[in-house]
Amino acid sequence: MLQTLKTYFGYDSFRPLQEDIVRHVLDGRDALVLMPTGGGKSICYQLPALLRQGTAVVVSPLLSLMKDQVESLRANGIPAAAMNSALSDGETVLLRRKLQQGEIRLLYISPERLMTEVNTLLPTIDISLFAIDEAHCISQWGHDFRPEYTQLGILREQFPRVPIIALTATADKITREDILRQLCLREPRVFLSSFDRPNLSLDVRRGYEQREKIHAILDLIHRHGTACGIIYCMSRKTTESVAEQLSRHGISCVPYHAGLSTSAREEAQNMFVRDRIQVIVATIAFGMGIDKSNVRWIVHYNLPKSIESFYQEIGRAGRDGMPSETLLFYSLGDLVMLSKFADESGQKLVNSEKLRRMQQYAEADICRRRILLGYFGEARDHDCGNCDICRRPPQRFDGTVLVQKALSGILRTDEQVSMRTLTDILLGRMTSDIVAHGYDRLKTFGAGRDVPMRHWRDYLLQMLHLGYFEIAYDENNHLKVTEPGRRVVYGKATAQLVVLHEEEKKPAAASRTGKKRKAAKPVTLFTATGTPAAITDTGLYEALRLLRKRLADEQSIPAYIILSDKTLAEIAVRRPRTLDEFGSISGIGDYKRERYGADFLAVIAQFFP
Ligand code: ADP
Ligand code: ZN
Repeated sequence: MLQTLKTYFGYDSFRPLQEDIVRHVLDGRDALVLMPTGGGKSICYQLPALLRQGTAVVVSPLLSLMKDQVESLRANGIPAAAMNSALSDGETVLLRRKLQQGEIRLLYISPERLMTEVNTLLPTIDISLFAIDEAHCISQWGHDFRPEYTQLGILREQFPRVPIIALTATADKITREDILRQLCLREPRVFLSSFDRPNLSLDVRRGYEQREKIHAILDLIHRHGTACGIIYCMSRKTTESVAEQLSRHGISCVPYHAGLSTSAREEAQNMFVRDRIQVIVATIAFGMGIDKSNVRWIVHYNLPKSIESFYQEIGRAGRDGMPSETLLFYSLGDLVMLSKFADESGQKLVNSEKLRRMQQYAEADICRRRILLGYFGEARDHDCGNCDICRRPPQRFDGTVLVQKALSGILRTDEQVSMRTLTDILLGRMTSDIVAHGYDRLKTFGAGRDVPMRHWRDYLLQMLHLGYFEIAYDENNHLKVTEPGRRVVYGKATAQLVVLHEEEKKPAAASRTGKKRKAAKPVTLFTATGTPAAITDTGLYEALRLLRKRLADEQSIPAYIILSDKTLAEIAVRRPRTLDEFGSISGIGDYKRERYGADFLAVIAQFFP
């Protein structure tokens, strides 16, 4: 097993559970595999496919996913093919013949196609196993329900001797039981791996306005050099305005949402996968079917509606295991909007509860990863060290006076103001709304001038979280002071708030004046033993990256399929001098060693003769 893993995929060891799963399938038994995105599900059926006789049939819901997998397998010298609506009649005939002659190790097939072939083509080929990828599509309770998946139960009946392995990154219980039942798996073993993604950092920023968000995003983009990322927004309009603003700062990016034509969306996705666009600004319509392993960062411009969506979306970063960054903006406006959606969704209880959990995550003052994993039923007894709370534990101060100013501002308007008007009152801003209501004559008008707007927004979110006031969503989002809030106003209780820090310096406004972004920072590689080794020669790294890009363009496949970022980084650190040394790097199998080894060694020799 290990030999085949190294020969074909170039890996020296298994990830947790992979070995057990492979053995189980090799024994001819059924399995359900639950692993997070990037956990390494593919190996679980691809390795048995290489070790068992015959062709493995892999059911996959999306053309783009199949394409990506087939390209990756072929890039490792493994005969693989996809059968779906994208094939011409001539191609189909050819593929059938190859299958019947046993020339294909893995066949990817759409569920529709599988159903039409189940009595025709399939009985005529020697099938080693069935893999049902994205198996949660079978469940009506999940988020990607695909009716065709519900017919897959027929496989167990028609092919009693062929093992079936179902795989998904969605772990909730209902979905899991649905998969087992509907696929009629026979004495299945369930492999549930940890959902932790330690290489993803977690960061939340509260109460930012549009302009501040854009600045923070530019800062993040510049920190990552040329690496690409995804920005998720709540609405189509926002994706367009964010993309436009970033473009003005010289960032190559496009919006992506369901309102665009299919061809425009495909184009955007292709350009992104091929590293021709650095940033996609998308609604949730983007992502499913993207296997790009070198997405280095994810931004949530708006609060997601549930922890499931959030986790799935950040999961698209760092599939290759390299450190990747995630940033979530949390603002009151989003909360108000999402509460309204939840109320009107027809499943008010469930959706409001999901939103509440998301809100708790955003407002957390304990390790955020513990909250996420706890949500998925994985209790942790230690902090992660890779979230903003762990890196800078919140410090508190006596914020009684601030709370009193804010709450008495609310009370003096007879609780008839929204958050925005309240901040205008505190800051003493003469807007038409303020003047119309005579709020400029209140005693609290301008009482909070000494605190910047950004900080007020943050403090107010903290007060909301502490339960000092509530938002009447059904009453124009007016603020209502609660009993604990009144106690602070009347001096019967004190209030502790979290100290705010000035954010990192503003990003250089340089891009507009023509000064281009700085060269990529040295990449840090996390070796198998966990010790980070920095790439000291960024010139070499850049040259290797360009070589990879050229090779990818020559074959019209994405660069990460030639070599993952992690493999590329390891080459830059270890600087192999011989083909054998090159082949010993993780991610280089025999095929890639023979095909690309000489080219990479030549580049290294130029730098280190
Ligand atoms: P999933 O389908 O679970 O999202 P993949 O199968 O695409 O994940 O694997 C994620 C990444 O991890 C890929 O880049 C893959 O090559 C890599 N990977 C998988 N198994 C191993 C392993 N045993 N050693 C090193 N890298 C691995
Ligand atoms: Zn943490």
